[in-house]
Amino acid sequence: MTIKTIFLDRDGVINKEVCYLHKIKDFKFIDGVFDACLHFQALGYQLIIITNQSGIGRGYYDEDAFHVINNWMLEQFKNKRIEILDVFFCPHTPESSCDCRKPKPGMFNQANDKYSIDMKKSWMVGDKEADIQAANAAGIQNTILVKSGHAIDEKNSNAKFILDSINQVKEVISN
Ligand SMILES: [Mg+2]
Ligand SMILES: [Zn+2]
Repeated sequence: MTIKTIFLDRDGVINKEVCYLHKIKDFKFIDGVFDACLHFQALGYQLIIITNQSGIGRGYYDEDAFHVINNWMLEQFKNKRIEILDVFFCPHTPESSCDCRKPKPGMFNQANDKYSIDMKKSWMVGDKEADIQAANAAGIQNTILVKSGHAIDEKNSNAKFILDSINQVKEVISN
């Protein structure tokens, strides 16, 4: 049994991009994210969050602070009857050359090892080209770049779709 999954980047996709976000008070959900997730769930997708958190490696906040925000976020999803299957995060800096920091596919591979995911039927939604590259390297061809986070270079993107925000994603993922 394999599962089909919507992989979501966190910052800029689920919540408004804030440089090295580490306080609940700075975490603002992007409009439409709950509706979109309910739609994905109704289509039988599992939801997994894949997020670079180099602020930990840089010493701007620690792993405990990350988990406090993460648990709070999961609680907000739960209140809307949305079950996030798992959250994978990379705490490393770019200089550490780990294999989990996007654009490397390590976190997708960890997820696949843990859950047996049908990558061909899965999707990645990100706000940076590195999100798309990581997904492609993990065998995910269905990729969406949203403009709700970092500035993007539309002409040089490998994303299959480029949309304003997660709010539009349900028009693209319909089965
Ligand atoms: Mg992001
Ligand atoms: Zn890493």
